[in-house]
Amino acid sequence: MTYPIEPPPFDARAVFMHCISDRISNENRELLSGYVDRIAKSENAFDESMKCGNAHTLRSTDFRLGSGDGNDPLDKIDDELGKIYTARLAKKDSMGRFYYDEILKSADKCPSCGHLAAREIDHFVPKDKFQLLAVCPLNLVPICRDCNRRKMNKQWTTPGSVPLHPYYDRIHSDRWLVGIVEESIPATVTYVAVAPGSWPIELGQRLASHFEFFELNQLYAAQAVDELAVLKGELTELFELYGTSEVVATLERRLRGCEKQATNSWRTALFRALSQNQWYCNGGFA
Ligand SMILES: [Zn+2]
Repeated sequence: MTYPIEPPPFDARAVFMHCISDRISNENRELLSGYVDRIAKSENAFDESMKCGNAHTLRSTDFRLGSGDGNDPLDKIDDELGKIYTARLAKKDSMGRFYYDEILKSADKCPSCGHLAAREIDHFVPKDKFQLLAVCPLNLVPICRDCNRRKMNKQWTTPGSVPLHPYYDRIHSDRWLVGIVEESIPATVTYVAVAPGSWPIELGQRLASHFEFFELNQLYAAQAVDELAVLKGELTELFELYGTSEVVATLERRLRGCEKQATNSWRTALFRALSQNQWYCNGGFA
């Protein structure tokens, strides 16, 4: 889960100006381009905040032009800025679609769950409240449909509740996903996120919050059920022929293969847990 991806190699100013470069009246283009400096400043403020771990302090009033009460004339401009994302960046064949596709291509799998295919773009902070970040690349993150449905327009108000951001939170090399073997018939495996002791407390809290919010135990445990069913047949044969040692060796071999792929995938954590569980290796798989 949450493997990092590289931030997009373009900035908000370039994306915004490209999005309003065509299929727009001169008057409207001139009006909107007058806000490009505000958009660039907002990008910098967002970037600083993410780097400092202050995402929970971002206030939507600092990232839009109007007051948002509906009476402010600038609210209409905010509406226009929000629509640029939908009509001029996400829409197929639109001017900015190139950027949408490039961001989507940067991740094979959804960084939020690390399991399902990334098929959509998520606004890390919502575009209908943070209009000046509506086309900011650092605020645009690939995501799968399931995780996107869960996230919606949610905002976070405490430091420990901010979800992990794949451009900023590069936690992939530390081991933190742990599988727990339930010694039942059939055997099952559940998952917990355990932050290494060397991490800042808030990062550990964010990991736990992210894990729970995206229901990753349920997602991973469901995958493990299928894998355990396949293993049952294979390990039963090995056990009968060669005993426990060959079961352990096989599971450890799988673990090494999975570890090369990802330290914290559900499969890596599964094989680590199984290979270290005496009950399972002594016939618990049956
Ligand atoms: Zn996902």
